[in-house]
Amino acid sequence: MRVLLVGSGGREHALAEAIARSADISTLYAAPGNPGISKIAHCVSIAADDIEGLVNFAKAEKIDLVVPGPEISLVAGLADACEKADIACAGPSKAAAQLEGSKAFTKEIADAASIPTARWQRFENNKEDAIAYIRQQGAPIVIKADGLAAGKGVIVAQTVEEAEKAVETLGLPLVIEECLFGKEVSLFAFCSGKEAVLIGAARDHKRVGNGDTGPNTGGMGAICPPPDFDRSAQENALDLTVRPMLAEMVKRGTPFKGVIFAGLMLTDEGPKLIEYNVRFGDPEAQALLIRLESDLLPVLKSLAKGELAGSEVTFSNDPSISLVLAAEGYPDSPKKGGVITGIDHAAAQPGVSVFHAGTAIKDGQLIASGGRVLTICATASTPEKARSRVYEAAAAIQWEDKMLRSDIGL
Ligand code: ATP
Repeated sequence: MRVLLVGSGGREHALAEAIARSADISTLYAAPGNPGISKIAHCVSIAADDIEGLVNFAKAEKIDLVVPGPEISLVAGLADACEKADIACAGPSKAAAQLEGSKAFTKEIADAASIPTARWQRFENNKEDAIAYIRQQGAPIVIKADGLAAGKGVIVAQTVEEAEKAVETLGLPLVIEECLFGKEVSLFAFCSGKEAVLIGAARDHKRVGNGDTGPNTGGMGAICPPPDFDRSAQENALDLTVRPMLAEMVKRGTPFKGVIFAGLMLTDEGPKLIEYNVRFGDPEAQALLIRLESDLLPVLKSLAKGELAGSEVTFSNDPSISLVLAAEGYPDSPKKGGVITGIDHAAAQPGVSVFHAGTAIKDGQLIASGGRVLTICATASTPEKARSRVYEAAAAIQWEDKMLRSDIGL
């Protein structure tokens, strides 16, 4: 099978490794890929949101399957363009990708399908109404910009004053939500339109600093599975929060196929939906995929056809952990250009994988070129051993502006 993988982060590097291991792969391309991916795939310099460029490449290279990594490709309509060109694509249509692109859309679907979620209201063109609603509801309360904001468009306000300020900062349109309490988990499933098959779950750490402090990021590390969310709890959450959504999407004529990522709060009343993402999470994908034992490619191929044949994915029972090595200054202004050493040594350790994200080659040397630079993953027989392995590997990798959280998996 000739596959085009789209994206350039650590998630895509982990996907590339899983696809490259498949019995069915003949040629793997990545657009645009990264220096790590280039070791196992042919990287082509087409941006993840250049839909025309991607589809033209796929046609010219007789690609059998397009595998989208990031949401940006899906929200921009990659799957629709592939369908038009008669190319299989393992991701949702633009209409179905609204589940990630619009918070109000997700909340409407949740209400229509009786999915447990926080009470909410949308404010489109009147800040006074939003402020009146906040005063009526009281704090804590959650204010969200209604669009793709890479995790930066959400403010969990502890006071009414803070919430009112958030309305000013974020601007309209807004979604205002009841604040939920509990522990968060990320649940992943393969979806064929009508059906869902559980992949697994992870717990992501979004804040930049130890103890979940500081600004929100794309994610600084993840543990898989979360110790308080076992397989039967995951199946139960799938029934409550994913399967009814699929039925509602079918009813609306916009079935969802691809990987769904449900962000859940485990409240005293059970799991409640915070958000959907229409693709694997990063760095959760890395932690999930290093535990994968079965062949990923047949599943992705059947998802593209709206089927779930071959989706019996199997994972190792060993837990895993992913740790992001970022650049000093991330998320606001990461320092770039430091020369990275020690990757080969780290990756040679048992159970350890190193995935590239913000790296580049300059003058023949590997340098840091983005905010999240590398993800290190480790699996072992216990979470504690996996944690030791990941931090030992992290210590072996050096560059001038390396920054990491020291409490992932504690
Ligand atoms: P991401 O980039 O992580 O996908 P996002 O911008 O799509 O984020 P959400 O996932 O909806 O936004 O919210 C981000 C974070 O804010 C959540 O992970 C959670 O910690 C917090 N949050 C969101 N909604 C609520 C809520 N109703 N109650 C409590 N916390 C919430």
